[in-house]
Amino acid sequence: MGRTNGLSAGVGVDTVSMSGFTRGGRYGDRLVYEALQSKWVRYHRHCTCGKDWVEAHAIPAGFTVVKAGNGWVGLVGPGLTEGVDEDKLTVNALWEAVTGRPGSQSWYEDVTLLPVPVPGKSGRRDPGKYSPMPPRATWRQLNSEWVIRAKNIQAGDKITVYRRDGAGSEETVAEVLREEPAGWQLARPLKAEVREDGTGQRPL
Ligand SMILES: [Zn+2]
Repeated sequence: MGRTNGLSAGVGVDTVSMSGFTRGGRYGDRLVYEALQSKWVRYHRHCTCGKDWVEAHAIPAGFTVVKAGNGWVGLVGPGLTEGVDEDKLTVNALWEAVTGRPGSQSWYEDVTLLPVPVPGKSGRRDPGKYSPMPPRATWRQLNSEWVIRAKNIQAGDKITVYRRDGAGSEETVAEVLREEPAGWQLARPLKAEVREDGTGQRPL
């Protein structure tokens, strides 16, 4: 997957005050998991690799580091923030990446909505570091059907839909099935209707 979010050596996650799923503010519409360094270092202690848990485990597992400002770091990626049911958020995907053991969180986490930053308030600001990525269309399972999760779509739109491994495919929206909170929509792709073998291809 693309690692285009300012990843560099010595990524610092130490300015985050608590771990949690976050949207809004500096992240725009993107769902991010802000990871508290001390918390996840503790989870990582079982491992004797001696490396940074983000670089040694989270990134190789497919998570993308999001930097913003001076050290604010979030993680986005498969099973954590992409292709997930936002009503049932857990950190199990990250837990497994960091600890090597299956996550067992059985309770769900809320999304913290950040206030929109006031332009110019902090004086020196590099807009490039703050520009939110446009909402990305991903696959999501609705009952037994794989559907598109995206924003501002309607029947007939041609969009790129991303799998958990970051691979995108061009899809045509056949029908919007459902409106969800925060402007998200679930839609059926045209391809699904014309598959002949009846099995479909599991997109995630
Ligand atoms: Zn390790």
